[in-house]
Amino acid sequence: QVVTRFAPSPTGFLHIGGARTALFNWLFAKHHGGKYLLRIEDTDRKRSTPEAIEAIIDGLDWLGLNHDDEITYQFSRAERHQQVADQLLSEGKAYHCYCSPQELTEMRETARAEGRPMKYDGRWRDRPASDAPEGVKPVVRLKMPQEGETLIQDLVQGDVTVANSQLDDMVLLRADGTPTYMLSVVVDDHDMGITHIIRGDDHLTNAFRQTQLFKAMGWELPHFAHIPLIHGADGAKLSKRHGALGVEAYRDEMGYLPEALRNYLLRLGWGHGDEEVISTEQAIEWFDIDGVGKSPSRFDFAKLENLNGIYIRNADDSYLADIISPIISEKEEITVSAEQKSVLVKGMSGLKERAKTIIDLADSAAFYARNRPLQLNDKAKKLLSDEGKENLKNLLTVLKSLSTWEEELLENTVKNFAEENELKLGKVAQPLRAALSGSNVSPGIFEVMAILGRDESINRITDQV
Ligand code: GLU
Repeated sequence: QVVTRFAPSPTGFLHIGGARTALFNWLFAKHHGGKYLLRIEDTDRKRSTPEAIEAIIDGLDWLGLNHDDEITYQFSRAERHQQVADQLLSEGKAYHCYCSPQELTEMRETARAEGRPMKYDGRWRDRPASDAPEGVKPVVRLKMPQEGETLIQDLVQGDVTVANSQLDDMVLLRADGTPTYMLSVVVDDHDMGITHIIRGDDHLTNAFRQTQLFKAMGWELPHFAHIPLIHGADGAKLSKRHGALGVEAYRDEMGYLPEALRNYLLRLGWGHGDEEVISTEQAIEWFDIDGVGKSPSRFDFAKLENLNGIYIRNADDSYLADIISPIISEKEEITVSAEQKSVLVKGMSGLKERAKTIIDLADSAAFYARNRPLQLNDKAKKLLSDEGKENLKNLLTVLKSLSTWEEELLENTVKNFAEENELKLGKVAQPLRAALSGSNVSPGIFEVMAILGRDESINRITDQV
C-alpha cells in the first residue's frame, strides 16, 4: 500500500510551495488508493510555535487536503529516535565523537581556505573509548561508507549519485542527547511506513545521507520524488513579492477560492495535456509522478486569477454567499442577517459572472446587505438631484400600486412610466439605481428590484425622495 506524508516544520505559515507539496502527496496517495499522513516536524523548539502549527493545519483544511490517521508530532518521538542511535552505536555503525568546538572551527576554516564545503574528517571514527577526554559529552555520529557511491533513483530527477567520500559522518545525537533532524526524519519515515517521499528538491542532498541511514538500520528504502521548486514569473526563486505567502493571504487578502488555488497548484509542475480546469475527481484519476516536470515552474498570478474567475462562475450561489457574508459583515461593520443572506444568494448569479476574486464579489454584493438608509456615493447623489428625485417620486406611486413584484413586470412598468412621461429611460432608471444600490453601477436594475423584494425596494426609494 502506498503511504505518503507531508512533513512541514512549523516555523511559519503554510507557504505556497508547501501547499503544493502537500497536494502532490495527497493526490498520489488517493490515486493509488493509499494513505496520506501529516507529520509536524517540531523538533526545533526555539522556532516552532503553536500558532504556526495551527496556521498549517488550517491552511491544509481550507484546501481540503485531509490527512489519514492521527497527526504525528516529531518531538514527541525523541526517545524512539535516541533508541535508534543507541542501536547503531551498539552495532558499531555509529560512534561517539569528542571533538571540541575549536577543532570543528579549525576544520571549517581549513575547508574555507581550500574553497570546499566543510567536512568532518572522521577523527573519532576508529579511536578507542579509552581516548575519551574526561568531562566532555560526545555527539553520536553515523559511520558513513567511505568508498563507492550513493545512488538515488529519484522518480522525478532520475538516477542521481554522489561519491561517498563527499558524505561526512553526520551527527545523529547532539552532546545533550537530542536527536538531529536527519535522524528524526528517517526514523519517522520508517516507523510511519512511508513508501513515497515527495518533497521539494531542496531536500535532494539530504536524501543521500538519509539513504545511508536507512541502509545502516537495514530498513527498506522509500521511493524518492524531489519536485522542482516554484519560481517567480521572472524565473528567480520565489520571494514574497512573487507570491511566497501563506495560503491564508491567498484566501483573506487576495480572495481566491480553495478549489481554484488547488487547481492552480496542481498545474504548477504537473500537467495532463492541455487541461487547465481539472476537478478533484479527475486530478485523483490522472495524477501520477511521471507527469511532474523536471524544470521549475513559474508562478503566474494572471493564470491563477483567471482560474479563480472560472471557479467563481461555476460555484454554487449559496456557497458563495456563505463565503462573502462574513467578509461583508466585517467590512461594513454590520451583521448580515439570515434574511439578507438569502438576498445575497439570489444576487450571486448576476454578480459572479464578472468577479475575478471573492473580494470583488463581496464588494459588488455589499449593497444588497447594507442597512437603510443607504449611504450614497457622489455619483449616486448627483443622479438624485431635484429632477431625478421628482421622477423617482412619481414612479414610486406607480410601483406601490403593483400587486405583484417580478422582474419582467417591473421592467415593463418602468419603461411605460418613462414613455408616458416622455422621459428617456435613463432619467428614471439611473435615479432608481442610485436609490436602490447607493451607487451609479449595479447589476441590471430590474433584477436588483426583484431580488431586494417589494418592501425593501419601496423603502429604499422612499428614503431618497
Ligand atoms: N520539515 C521539512 C521542511 O519543512 C521537510 C522534510 C521532508 O519532507 O523530508 O522543509
